[in-house]
Amino acid sequence: MLALLLLFLHRHLDCVAGRLGGAPTHVVVVPSTRGKAHPHPLQDLIGDRLRLPWLAALPSPRYGSETRTFQRDWFTVQLPGQSGSIRPLILDDTWTTGSRAQSLAYALKKAGAPSVAVLVLGRHIRPEHAASQPLLKAIEDPMFDLSACAIER
Ligand SMILES: [Zn+2]
Repeated sequence: MLALLLLFLHRHLDCVAGRLGGAPTHVVVVPSTRGKAHPHPLQDLIGDRLRLPWLAALPSPRYGSETRTFQRDWFTVQLPGQSGSIRPLILDDTWTTGSRAQSLAYALKKAGAPSVAVLVLGRHIRPEHAASQPLLKAIEDPMFDLSACAIER
């Protein structure tokens, strides 16, 4: 997972920076609902390799692993100093519905970040689910291609 992240950023950091309005200034991981591990295993894995300060996102106890929809008050984040110049890069190890990453992006913007990028390293798909079929068809050939990112397509 670490190799995938570093390879992706090596190839596509400029793509992300172009959409963010500049290179990411901070990094934050979508907190896990399953465990209360601090730091998050993904943050622990990455450490200081991105040479960016980490932001902490605190989840509301109101929502748990069963929550599958966007929630405005799911996360609380405090941005340091001049929040208007902070461009957070959200990292998520698994995308299921996107509700957690989107709720965290909302919280970061509400705290003052003018733009936010989300980088997802994995995707959870139920092949038997009808809504998954277009995505499965789209990634069929080639199965995996790191040469172009979603921004370039
Ligand atoms: Zn790219």
